[in-house]
Amino acid sequence: MLNKTGVPTAEDVLTVTPSEERLKKGPVAIIECFQEIPCNPCTEACKQGAIQPMEDINNLPQLDYDQCNGCGVCLSRCPGLAIFIVDASYSETEAIVRIPFEYVPVPRVGESVVGLNRAGEELGTFVVNKVQSGGQKNKTYTIWLVVPKALAMDVRSIRLGGLRHAN
Ligand code: SF4
Ligand code: SF4
Repeated sequence: MLNKTGVPTAEDVLTVTPSEERLKKGPVAIIECFQEIPCNPCTEACKQGAIQPMEDINNLPQLDYDQCNGCGVCLSRCPGLAIFIVDASYSETEAIVRIPFEYVPVPRVGESVVGLNRAGEELGTFVVNKVQSGGQKNKTYTIWLVVPKALAMDVRSIRLGGLRHAN
């Protein structure tokens, strides 16, 4: 499925999903990198040693969820926009999903934006809680989005401009 559509299957996603117990503890990286390509900035970016060094640059990144503190540095360094941070400890009912974003305009804090799943389907509108610039040389912004906990492993991109389909 991934090779044909570019959309990971539920089975693919399960392979990068931390346990419920780890998710409850606080922010953690979700590395949705499913294709073997020559790339490794994520391993270099992680100063916690949570992403194992690759023996072969084509290997898929291997993350130790218990070593990861959810700092998000790897998210802004990933050229594939394949890394997200999920914080299921945000509140009783809501989670924060941090999403890489490289378009303009950049959303503002407090703005409602459309959250999309991996297939680009609308999941609703959600409020931006924080916007982090990647810095002068890094065009990747990190958008912090407040979503219902049940959607924390589903919302993976955003679009400005409102819903196009009635949900
Ligand atoms: S979020 Fe931070 S600690 Fe976790 S893998 Fe990324 S860089 Fe390492
Ligand atoms: S930097 Fe991103 S695309 Fe490259 S190996 Fe790491 S997760 Fe995959």
